[in-house]
Amino acid sequence: MNEFDLIQSYFNWQSTDPNVLLGVGDDAALFDLEPDHQLVTSTDTLVEDIHFFRDTSPSDIAYKSLAVNLSDIAAMGAVAKCFTLSLTLPKINHDWLKEFSASLKKASRLYNVNLIGGDTTKGPLNITITMMGSIKKGKSIQRSGARNKDDIYISGDLGTAALCLKKMNEGIKPSLNELNKLNRPIPRLELGSALKDLASSCIDVSDGLEQDLSHILNSSDVGATIDAQKLPLGEELSQYIKETNDWLLPLCGGDDYELCFTADKASSSKLKKLSETLNIRVTKIGSINASNELKINGYDGSSASYKHF
Ligand SMILES: [Mg+2]
Repeated sequence: MNEFDLIQSYFNWQSTDPNVLLGVGDDAALFDLEPDHQLVTSTDTLVEDIHFFRDTSPSDIAYKSLAVNLSDIAAMGAVAKCFTLSLTLPKINHDWLKEFSASLKKASRLYNVNLIGGDTTKGPLNITITMMGSIKKGKSIQRSGARNKDDIYISGDLGTAALCLKKMNEGIKPSLNELNKLNRPIPRLELGSALKDLASSCIDVSDGLEQDLSHILNSSDVGATIDAQKLPLGEELSQYIKETNDWLLPLCGGDDYELCFTADKASSSKLKKLSETLNIRVTKIGSINASNELKINGYDGSSASYKHF
């Protein structure tokens, strides 16, 4: 099977978006943007043995590759539209490809994004997705927008993916809920899109809250105080912290893909309403100040956030 047959067999499904003028199969794809909109694009690579275990199912790998890229688009307040896929495979394994492509198609339909092109090569298993979205000109939420006295919020809860990873590394079987948090993160697309009118800055928590919030602080040239006791935790993690008092997981664990954002105090009632409408937990965890440091009340351990190198 050559590259063209592989793409034809596994990655050439019908687009559901009339804005896709040319999809898979030409030299390049063609996509219509709405008037007065800007292209928002982000790319992320998942590598075997680094971002996922060797025995992770092709279905979970496909879902997560898409979800982590969607999460970046959500953090900008944009609407995700289409994506390209670069797939590096050690060999052509039809069972693997069948499951991977079925899951990718299902997830792309779920989140209403279309595959418009890509590339396949031979090598160690590696999945790169480049996601494209759009946003009304000037409306994107950037890391540099946090202002003194803004409140800091987190969507969902933190640390369960890291707890799952910790258990797996220690040979303990995680619960299904923990596995889902690690392998099936939910990109906060609706929330992100709504936040473009409310948030002053935003980031998705992929490498750990402490590190990702620090990106906002550095870009915005501000400091912050957050309260460890206020961090939203899932049930299993609450139990774990009760037993261990180990706050490293929600503070420095990665892979949560929740949105950490800042907003003016005046937006608090609108945010509360938004959280109710979308049925997504939104928790205030601290506030921005004029210092140049991140202070975490109730935690005096050292940082262990994910470092890429
Ligand atoms: Mg990100």
